[in-house]
Amino acid sequence: MTATFAAIVWTLGLVAWFVIRLPYQRRARRIGISATQRTLTDRLALAASGIGLAVIPAFYLATGIPAAADYPFQPLLGWCGLLVQVLFLALFYASHRQLGRNWSVSLEIRNDHRLVTDGLYRYVRHPMYSSFWLWAIAQAFLLPNWVAGLSGLVGVGILFLARVGAEEAMMEKHFGEQYRSYAARTGRVIPRIF
Ligand code: SAH
Repeated sequence: MTATFAAIVWTLGLVAWFVIRLPYQRRARRIGISATQRTLTDRLALAASGIGLAVIPAFYLATGIPAAADYPFQPLLGWCGLLVQVLFLALFYASHRQLGRNWSVSLEIRNDHRLVTDGLYRYVRHPMYSSFWLWAIAQAFLLPNWVAGLSGLVGVGILFLARVGAEEAMMEKHFGEQYRSYAARTGRVIPRIF
């Protein structure tokens, strides 16, 4: 594993994320929305995650800036990054499939929204956000630069803090007791632990 190979792995991860998301993004446009909480806070948090996971690392790979934050590449960390990247993509793909037509990029309740409680959702309430944490961890392993490597963790952290409480409140408002009992038997991102 070389630094160049690690950079290619990171880039392929971004491309794969886009390819997996695209059909759901397209389909979502055709499904009506019955309630929305697309607030300014949520938009800013979404932008922060995009900047941390894509803009800053892509800029770093294209320009080498900020070079002062570089540290020597370690092949073992690169391999760990590849492994975590594969786990991220598998989890991202599976959560998108299982959430199906109920998915939204923001906080929204779709027409005929069904509460998904099976598959991955049987164990955790936010497997897609778990996958984003893995993505950020893979980025930290793959890019030997303190800024570009760690920006994903900051971006996902901001999205997570801004999003999860509001999302759960929205789901509880819409699904009531059904969501409360679902929440009582599942973890947020790690089964049984958190
Ligand atoms: N937090 C989830 C979903 C992310 S997409 C995850 O990480 O896997 C965000 C949208 O998914 C929210 O607007 C909400 O409408 C919807 N959603 C979240 N949990 C859901 C569930 N268990 N069943 C159906 N829709 C859900």
